[in-house]
Amino acid sequence: MSASKSLFGTNGIRGLANVELTPDVVVKIGLAVGTFFGKKNLLLGYDARTSGPMLAKAVMSGLTATGCNVYFAGMAPTPSLQFAVKNHKLDGGVIVTASHNPAEYNGIKVLWNDGIEISHEQEVEIERIYFDKNFNFASWDKLGKIRDRLGINDEYISAIKRRVDVEKISKKHFHIVVDPVNSVGGLTAPSLMRELGCKVTSINANIDGTFPGRQPEPCPESLGELAATVKAIGADIGVAFDGDADRSIFVDENGEVYMGDKTFAIVLKQFLLKNEGATVVTPVSSSTLIKNIADTYKGKIEWTKVGSVTVSHKMREVNAKLGGEENGGVFYEPHQAVRDGAMTTALLLEIMAETGKKLSELVDEQPQYFIEKCKVECPNEKKAVLQTKIFEQFKNGNISTIDGVKIWFDDQSSILIRASGTEPVYRMYVEAKTREKALELIGEYRLRLEELLQSI
Ligand code: MG
Repeated sequence: MSASKSLFGTNGIRGLANVELTPDVVVKIGLAVGTFFGKKNLLLGYDARTSGPMLAKAVMSGLTATGCNVYFAGMAPTPSLQFAVKNHKLDGGVIVTASHNPAEYNGIKVLWNDGIEISHEQEVEIERIYFDKNFNFASWDKLGKIRDRLGINDEYISAIKRRVDVEKISKKHFHIVVDPVNSVGGLTAPSLMRELGCKVTSINANIDGTFPGRQPEPCPESLGELAATVKAIGADIGVAFDGDADRSIFVDENGEVYMGDKTFAIVLKQFLLKNEGATVVTPVSSSTLIKNIADTYKGKIEWTKVGSVTVSHKMREVNAKLGGEENGGVFYEPHQAVRDGAMTTALLLEIMAETGKKLSELVDEQPQYFIEKCKVECPNEKKAVLQTKIFEQFKNGNISTIDGVKIWFDDQSSILIRASGTEPVYRMYVEAKTREKALELIGEYRLRLEELLQSI
């Protein structure tokens, strides 16, 4: 949370619990959100962080003070709460979560009536109410009511089971290792997997808001224990969730950890085989692998700016049934158009059952790309001018300027040049069919960018 006049970042409000997000600040956020909705019915839940119950009650206090009725779901994964808003036909919802941030953080996500996070324009409206203290206090006899809304996790598990072939998966008796980082993924994923006929081994599964097992961001560096466990016990697959279980990262039977673009590509291929010509949504930062699979299996890609909420909103706009991000977010609209770690796991198990292939085989059959990254220092005040110069220089290529500049070359290599939102740097991300080509491209474009920067 910054000191400037904004509350929301790319995924809701985030801050250090009891330092930035203190109870009094969060009561006011509740007042602002409640005023924004205006005496509506809202779902409320939280993830496993130690500050969750305290801050959820603070939000509840603010919401009911404006006359909003609160349906209190308690501790639950973000996608479970999102599904419940839609399933119970509520007007919206509030989730107290800091997703993948470390344990000392917390945050607040605000949902619309379809379970998708509100738009940037709606966030600005809430910020205006918050900073102007323009709260609508209800009179004593019009205060919002608080009702428990328990059982949403069971409804969520049932809903996922309706979207996959349970019988087909069950026959395979997969052995899966689940690592929910001592947070809310542990409330749903192990049960779901067991109901899909899997043998489940869990690590970091007890609820512990200090996240003693690992960092809540699932990445190769934080998933060593999961990888070693899968290999040691001969499991078929491992899955790790982030702190609020909307993202999932997978480990194959050999203990290899895959980034999300590889598993999204598997889901995408199977989806396009069944839905020829379908439109899928993905940020422009996604791997060329995604474009390659879409081209090969006759899918149409709608590119978006980086950010999960943007993907959800674009899916709603173009009526797309599938979306995905390289960080392990898969959006499967027949269930819900938001990232959903447990849904993704069920889809992947279904594909393994349908194809009879191991996860490593499904990844190995994909086209391979070599990745190189670098950053070029650029003062924040020069970013906009540099951006214009980059546009001018590269406008004749096969490019997208949705978010930074992405250039696709004829030989399937690509480069994304994008200003960092938080640091005084430009980031470059290259993919190519050979390591030599990737190194050559990153070297060349680094020089070109530095030259452009010097000319400013
Ligand atoms: Mg998350």
